[in-house]
Amino acid sequence: MNMSASVPSMRVLPSIDRVLAEDLFAAIGLSLGRGAAVRIARDAVAVVRTQIEEESSSGDVLQLVLNAARTAFERESSSGVRRVINATGVIIHTNLGRSPLSEAAIQAISEYASRYCALEFDVVTGKRGRRGPRAESLICELTGAEAAVIVNNCAAAAFLTLKVLALGKEVIISRGELVEIGGDFRVPDVLAESGATLREAGTTNRTKIADYAKAISENTGLILRVHPSNFRVIGFTAAPTNLELAALARERAIPFVEDAGSGALVDLSEFGLGDEPVIARSIADGVDVVLFSGDKLLGGVQAGFIVGKSEIIERICRHPLYRALRIDKLAYSAIEATLGSYARGSQFEDIPTLRMLAAPAEEVLKRSRKLIDRIESRGLLKIEIVEGESVVGGGSAPDAKPVTWLISTERPGKTADELSASFRRRPIPVIARISDDKLLLDLRTVFEDEEAELADAIRELAA
Ligand SMILES: *Cc1c(COP(=O)(O)O)cnc(C)c1O
Repeated sequence: MNMSASVPSMRVLPSIDRVLAEDLFAAIGLSLGRGAAVRIARDAVAVVRTQIEEESSSGDVLQLVLNAARTAFERESSSGVRRVINATGVIIHTNLGRSPLSEAAIQAISEYASRYCALEFDVVTGKRGRRGPRAESLICELTGAEAAVIVNNCAAAAFLTLKVLALGKEVIISRGELVEIGGDFRVPDVLAESGATLREAGTTNRTKIADYAKAISENTGLILRVHPSNFRVIGFTAAPTNLELAALARERAIPFVEDAGSGALVDLSEFGLGDEPVIARSIADGVDVVLFSGDKLLGGVQAGFIVGKSEIIERICRHPLYRALRIDKLAYSAIEATLGSYARGSQFEDIPTLRMLAAPAEEVLKRSRKLIDRIESRGLLKIEIVEGESVVGGGSAPDAKPVTWLISTERPGKTADELSASFRRRPIPVIARISDDKLLLDLRTVFEDEEAELADAIRELAA
């Protein structure tokens, strides 16, 4: 376009230096650094240049540049890990960080993080000690296992265990358990990567102990059982018990490993989670090694537990890969504190994941009523409380859906997507659920001290 002829002087772009002299850029520089401020200024000028060329904007050019910069600044400032309010009702929400921690775990992390700590040091002898002995002895006490080691996550636990026990050998697994669990954990792929060969047994729906027996050869590394987690085969099905598999493995002198997934340390069948392997039960039934996550039903931080026979655990600890997969002091501090709650029997009071799971529907209803009573002027907003279901998540049974009550909101002229987007734009974003073009809020996963903030968010929708 011909700038000199048709565009008034107001449409001339300011220099980068002129833009950087604005107060906004002093704030950006303080928050994100000088380099980011210069980059955002250049990008904002480029955006406005395009707008002018396309004649898609009007108004004061400097203001347009500042608006573009402000948007970029906000986007960049909010792009890291940040706190959100989880009103989805999905208790173990992998995209929202799975399990929030207990007060004890938070305190432990803060203490260990701010000072030195005896991570691999024996304060009695003054000599180098083993890493994480307290967490490991606690998990042994809680599960009845002889020994334990903790790594980065359950995927790492599976990978390392297979590498140590089955490199170059066959791993026998039921065809019904060759599953994918959430995105990129696929049992056949993990197996292949660890250098083991898959030896399938039985069929998708029915695998019997005789199928396992038939698959055993001199090249068998181990028998693997994988909890199918968020997948179920129903109807005409069969699978041997852990007791039967353990007896077969013992008789043929091969290890029996179970990837239990969620890590239920206590029986959760009264909450619809009767299918979750309870770790202590697997150990009592004779499983040699059990693997499970630290941040699913256990309610702690990302970690992978390997518990079982000491001879095998020792071999795992000696493998060079252990060094690459081990956890840090903050994870140990949180795990020790979280397991401490189980040891004291106060897990349902202390650990948010279990507290939310166990909360009765009536409690959610009462809190929902109280919360909407705080919204005095609703404008066009239509609010009601409806019965619904929460979701346990984190790879637990797909049909485990605690009954709950939902705050349902609608506003004529606005879609639920628009309402949800404005919730997400708040300083503390609120993540809600959408169904039937209604915005649904499940207080089961909202902390009580977040209710005032949530009420503010609803008031803003009404305004
Ligand atoms: C969730 C899950 C995993 C992966 O656990 P991460 O801790 O996320 O690595 C592995 N196996 C099973 C059976 C699971 O349910």
